[in-house]
Amino acid sequence: MYLSSLHIQQFRNYIDQAVTFNTPKTVIVGNNAQGKSNLLEAVLLLATLRSHRVSKDRDLVRNGEAIAEIKATCQRTHVGGYPIDLMIRMRSSGKRSLQVNGVNQAKNLDFLGNINAVMFSSLDLDLVRGSPESRRNWLDTVLIQLEPIYINLLQQYNQVLRQRNALLKSIKQGQVVYDVQQMALWDAQLVTTGTRLMRRRSRLLDRLTPMARHWHQAISGGNEYLEITYLPKFAFAPKDTVEKIHQDFFAAILQKNAIEQYQGTSLVGPHRDEVLLTINQTPAREYGSQGQQRTLVLALKLAELELLETVIGEPPLLLLDDVLAELDLQRQDHLLNAIGDRIQTVITTTHLGSFDAQWLNSARIFQVEKGR
Ligand code: ATP
Ligand code: MG
Repeated sequence: MYLSSLHIQQFRNYIDQAVTFNTPKTVIVGNNAQGKSNLLEAVLLLATLRSHRVSKDRDLVRNGEAIAEIKATCQRTHVGGYPIDLMIRMRSSGKRSLQVNGVNQAKNLDFLGNINAVMFSSLDLDLVRGSPESRRNWLDTVLIQLEPIYINLLQQYNQVLRQRNALLKSIKQGQVVYDVQQMALWDAQLVTTGTRLMRRRSRLLDRLTPMARHWHQAISGGNEYLEITYLPKFAFAPKDTVEKIHQDFFAAILQKNAIEQYQGTSLVGPHRDEVLLTINQTPAREYGSQGQQRTLVLALKLAELELLETVIGEPPLLLLDDVLAELDLQRQDHLLNAIGDRIQTVITTTHLGSFDAQWLNSARIFQVEKGR
């Protein structure tokens, strides 16, 4: 997979900027707040249709403008290597248009899968020490690329969840009375759509864990044992039949019925899932040292890269947003060796001093200033 060009208009602090990538390694250097992360965010949007920082297109469109565009040309070896043109048009109103080779795509699903990318930014350090939401977002971002249908399942679930929450809130506020039959309809949809997400997330972790463990042992020197456990809000055995999972899910909702009405929100389902990360059986979130947490994040990211490459059959792009400076030399080496020359990499930094001179020799360097 190769991203050969990117053209962004009225996106974030950019007015109109084209970038050509003609080497596997690109370094974007610039002071703070000049547009380095924005550029990588544009590439990630092409791969996942999601930003890693915000959820509203209003924030992505340049302030005061109505429409932003991201255009790119990429090539994939496994579909013959001919160029594919992609375009995302975002509106501050929230409506998007997508095109592949100039043809409108009504569905996200038909757009996804043309570019794959792994982003590793300083925000990812929250993957271990942050809230469960950051771990759920990570799983979702990986799944959207591995199985693009997941973006539809996620949208369906979120829609059911919003409506069920709205109903619970009006019950709490006394605007409507609790109606068993009406609620049962929402419960059923929450359970069926939610189970689909949970089974996919659990399968993903089964595949990621051995890879993450391998990287983790390589980086930490071998005497640390990583475990990743998927922890939904009810006893969930992925090997169970769908019917059994549905039953357990229903039972858990029933058990929380009173408290859900009291709190006015849904308390059971994949929107409340947690992923437990332990090193030598100790939770890394609460007890890991900063160095251990960094090693773990790096191992998770390298596992993500490896899994995407395995499933897709070619390496995804790697977007490293300001993280190199945050890793010590040994961890940097692991990362740069894992990348080698096979993986197209775009790295941002505020100063070139933290790079190996030989490594920089083979990179193309762009300087960014005020969105240019
Ligand atoms: P740092 O080194 O601090 O991470 P950066 O170069 O990565 O800096 P970016 O995150 O890319 O900086 O942001 C660059 C600028 O873009 C910021 O000053 C921000 O205020 C601005 N910006 C973000 N969103 C918009 C928007 N919708 N319209 C206009 N400007 C925006
Ligand atoms: Mg930045």
